[in-house]
Amino acid sequence: MGERQRKLHGIMICVPYQGHLNPFVDLALKLASNGIVITFVHLEFLHRKLCQTHHANKTDVDLFSEARELGLDIRFTTMTDPFPLEFDRDANFNEYWETMVRDFPPLVNEFVGKILASDRDNMLHFLVADTVYTWPAAVARKYNLVNVSLWTQSALVYCLGYHWDLLQQNGHFPCNDEVDEEIKYIPGIESINTKDLIAYLRQSQCESVISRASRLQFEQGKMADFVLQNTVEELEPRALSALNNYLPNYAIGPLNFSQDLPTNTVTTSLWSKSDCTNWLGSKPPGSVLYVSFGSFVHTNMQVLEELAYGLLLSQVNFVWVIRQGILGDGATSVLSAEFQDAVKERGLIIGWCDQVETLSNPAVGGFLTHSGWNSTLESMWCGVPMICYPIGFDQPCSSKLVVSDWKIGVHLCEGGTLHRENVAHKIQSFMNGGDLERLKQNAERVRKIMKNAVETDGSSKTNFDRFLKDLEAKIRAQN
Ligand code: UDP
Repeated sequence: MGERQRKLHGIMICVPYQGHLNPFVDLALKLASNGIVITFVHLEFLHRKLCQTHHANKTDVDLFSEARELGLDIRFTTMTDPFPLEFDRDANFNEYWETMVRDFPPLVNEFVGKILASDRDNMLHFLVADTVYTWPAAVARKYNLVNVSLWTQSALVYCLGYHWDLLQQNGHFPCNDEVDEEIKYIPGIESINTKDLIAYLRQSQCESVISRASRLQFEQGKMADFVLQNTVEELEPRALSALNNYLPNYAIGPLNFSQDLPTNTVTTSLWSKSDCTNWLGSKPPGSVLYVSFGSFVHTNMQVLEELAYGLLLSQVNFVWVIRQGILGDGATSVLSAEFQDAVKERGLIIGWCDQVETLSNPAVGGFLTHSGWNSTLESMWCGVPMICYPIGFDQPCSSKLVVSDWKIGVHLCEGGTLHRENVAHKIQSFMNGGDLERLKQNAERVRKIMKNAVETDGSSKTNFDRFLKDLEAKIRAQN
């Protein structure tokens, strides 16, 4: 076979969380739509969870079979992580990641070796791994694979992580939790207040497994050949251009809204969805606050109660997603029957929904969010202003972008404890107050920027095409 006929083959290994899985699947579809063969790898426990939720427990489901019927060459497989299937990875987050950092790399090493050895088509292989893994550089080096890193958070967070040493030299890692200072020395970041830093840079979290693993992850990320950023060039121009001084970055977001992708052919939702369409249909346009804290973070009963009674006092209509496990245990019903009865005319409490569909509904006028990056992008895509209540991880950075840079949202509170009266006041003034028009106008401007980015001549589309060319050139040069 001539060199030119050898097909490109991407091995994609995703992190087992909803906020990573969604962009990963979209990227797989995007690459395959451009003629690249993909082997998509799920961790076995995650595959079982998807099967339990959507396929009546059948475990031999090939999640990409429908996509293949449309002509996309995506092969699906699973691998095990170091824990038994029944181990509760969410409730035992620290133990899970301690072990993943230590014991997963040899497993993935062996697994990738087997995939490569089973290739009968003499393809040109490359690796696409989530940047938050600590092993991709080593595996890519071992097998001479081009190393593509998918970063599923903001470019702002990538800049901070990239310059971890600089933060340390300036005394901002670990960052004293009480310090309130502007940081102006990070290339690509004009200014960021210490309270908006990634949560695991703080003193109180600097010894946590996520802090240690993240530092390793950013170090190994420096050895990637290409970094794909799920953001939009026009929205984070400084951060992206600064990062381009160190390694090739391509802003190709928002991935889940790329044009013409058959996203509905692949099962990705980790919980089954309630349909709120009828309920929303009974409410006036712009009158409903959508409330959700994503797929992953935990909170406590006190926060939920202050929010609940804040929502009650605000008199605003709301849809509130309280997913099972949000308290870090198996509790299914966390709000009192008394509360549920008091809000039954104007509040809908559900376990999970199609978030984009909900945000797109004309009845929804605002999003009270934990500022997960996907939720932020989805709200922006739908032109919905946000009330930000970041809980941890990269969320303070997303809320800084939303509130200070793009001016399409407000903070629920400036740190500290939540009080129901303050929550009610904030929600009322957000949904009905004088600032809403300004927020809506800004949200509309951002929505247009995002839509343009994925159009034919838009920045994300052009960047993706450029990435494909650069990827192919690099792989062919390396083989
Ligand atoms: N999501 C959903 N249904 C819900 C709540 C969330 O489909 O009821 C999806 C949401 O659309 C987003 C993802 O879950 O794509 C959450 O990702 P994000 O980065 O916002 O937060 P994380 O879960 O990683 O904290």
